[in-house]
Amino acid sequence: MSQHARLQHYDYGITCVDTELFRPGLACCYLVQEGDEAAFIDTGTRNSVPLLLEALAVNGLSLNQVRWVMPTHVHLDHAGGAGALMQVLPEAQLLVHERGAAHMISPQKLQAGSLAVYGQARYQAAFGDLVPVPEHRVKIACDGDRVALGSREFQIIDTPGHARHHYVVWDKLSRGLFCGDSFGVSYPELNDGTQRFVFPPTTPVQFDPAAWHTTIERLLAFDAQHVYLTHFGRHNEVREFGEELHRQIDAYVEYAERMAKDSNPQPEKFAELLMLHSQNLLKLRDSKVPPDVTRRLLGGDMELNAQGLLHWLQRHSS
Ligand SMILES: [Zn+2]
Repeated sequence: MSQHARLQHYDYGITCVDTELFRPGLACCYLVQEGDEAAFIDTGTRNSVPLLLEALAVNGLSLNQVRWVMPTHVHLDHAGGAGALMQVLPEAQLLVHERGAAHMISPQKLQAGSLAVYGQARYQAAFGDLVPVPEHRVKIACDGDRVALGSREFQIIDTPGHARHHYVVWDKLSRGLFCGDSFGVSYPELNDGTQRFVFPPTTPVQFDPAAWHTTIERLLAFDAQHVYLTHFGRHNEVREFGEELHRQIDAYVEYAERMAKDSNPQPEKFAELLMLHSQNLLKLRDSKVPPDVTRRLLGGDMELNAQGLLHWLQRHSS
């Protein structure tokens, strides 16, 4: 492991746990502690479970103190470990969006869909077989729901745009939003410039630009001091991120619509276009990260973004 710390302790009992998907600093989840209760917001993958249990031990928590497991949505970097994690947390309830619940109870379809996105080899190495969660341990999260953790109260916000099965958690105590993927991706390595670099993950298959713009406005209205991103960590530039995401979603849509004029749009060609767009934004921020490194850090994301945008284009034009 590099100099990157696996656990970062923030105030208000919040710990950021690196779930070590693909590389350190790519994906995390959050352990939130209040009184003698705890919650995980996002879970990482099945391979992340030992790291989450280690975080509990470091924080002096026992397995039966975990009250909630809260995947923000059912993409596997957020919820892939939920089933295996629930097996070792006897008192926990899984809180999941109504559109995601069936996929946690019977994960075969979710696994097949993710296999199609990642390919067999990459899928197996990163995610493995998903473990079903017994139905009686699943609680549906609806917009506006309040969830108690000790004396603390979370509020659930329905946040379509990245995925229709996505919610965000408003934590009034820390004035923070646990955003999953709804407030973009911002990697620590690429934040060396004059401004942090954030981009929208337009992962297949439910990207919805109009819904996402509305979601961003809704999230900004909370006047949060922090956003806790799954990719990656806590950021305080809330309004700047929101404005930048609006701009980039528009830019992505413009690129996609230009692509549509091509009779046979190639995902590889589109991913390269998005890569150059991102590198250009980094240059404008005076980032000193060399282009070959940005290519390594963003390559996988730009491929998924291109796939997701092409998928949207098909749905949009049919
Ligand atoms: Zn996602």
